[in-house]
Amino acid sequence: MTAAVEFRGVSVHFGRTTALDSLDLTVARGETLALLGPSGSGKSTALKALAGFVRPSAGRVFLNGEDVTDLPPHRRGLGVVVQSYALFPHMRVDDNVAFGLKARRTPRAEVTSRVAEVLDLVGMGAYARRFPRELSGGQQQRVALARALAIRPDVLLLDEPLSALDAALREDMIAELLRLRAELPDTTLVYVTHDQGEALALADRIALMRDSRLVEAGPCEQLYRRPTSEFTARFLGAAN
Ligand code: ADP
Ligand code: MG
Repeated sequence: MTAAVEFRGVSVHFGRTTALDSLDLTVARGETLALLGPSGSGKSTALKALAGFVRPSAGRVFLNGEDVTDLPPHRRGLGVVVQSYALFPHMRVDDNVAFGLKARRTPRAEVTSRVAEVLDLVGMGAYARRFPRELSGGQQQRVALARALAIRPDVLLLDEPLSALDAALREDMIAELLRLRAELPDTTLVYVTHDQGEALALADRIALMRDSRLVEAGPCEQLYRRPTSEFTARFLGAAN
């Protein structure tokens, strides 16, 4: 079967910095993959290469078997939440969330109902008419998540979507994301996090990164119980 996502030898350089070094990785349709690793290990760069926000200096990226390396971000059909939750500052929350739906010519009544649904899902139903600048960072990030979910993408990319939330809300959001996964079994999720607890709670498989490289990838159980490196054992906490 064709993989939903494939990185084939993808490298990214910023000047002399190697941000991503020859990444080979596939994600099956409907799978949730956690891209896990410490800060600076290349996780966001991998996601950006997939989303089209940075150009690989080598290698190719594929979505559903199609080489999308040369396609601009908006032609890749992805739902994306980046770390810096860039909302349109001049648009109210509901208009931010509706933006992608309107661009896809979704009927108005459906736009209204879906916007309400996803805002409720992220606990932002009461903030629909606010502007981004009137929200905290965590609230903006939740709106960004709602915006990505609204278009019901085949592949959803989330870069540390819970990092700005407090612990209680984070628990709620993990539960919501699990529910979402069950409701959308065909949606492929690539979830970037530095938090092994989040990765273990949410993912089918973990791809562990270190120093711009993939250390190992496998089912959560496998990395947790039978790590093939000291780094994996330490990072997943199995040795603790
Ligand atoms: P992570 O998301 O795992 O924290 P990143 O992918 O953001 O890591 O970064 C990987 C490496 O690439 C780091 O050394 C980082 O400093 C560097 N890097 C990332 N983005 C840029 C950029 N735009 N310009 C220069 N260096 C960058
Ligand atoms: Mg990052």
